[in-house]
Amino acid sequence: MAEKRKYARKYCKYCEAKIEYIDYKDAKILRHSLSERYKIMPRRLTGNCKRHQEMVELAIKRARHTAVIPYIIDTRKVVAVPFEQIQQ
Ligand SMILES: [Zn+2]
Repeated sequence: MAEKRKYARKYCKYCEAKIEYIDYKDAKILRHSLSERYKIMPRRLTGNCKRHQEMVELAIKRARHTAVIPYIIDTRKVVAVPFEQIQQ
């Protein structure tokens, strides 16, 4: 049985936006690769290229350390935000 595709077509959003360097202070850019629980989305789901995925991983880890984005999120505060909305 064919597996239902949960996510839209894959392409690297950072390549599309021609981003050469991902700034850890820019949470808006990082959100492309974060789940609703602020976990780093794997490349197979986001479609990021390897180069940008590595950049974004580093940026997200720095952003967590500098409290730009949280490490963990209170389960009561989690709202069911679909992945599609985060992409915007
Ligand atoms: Zn890319």
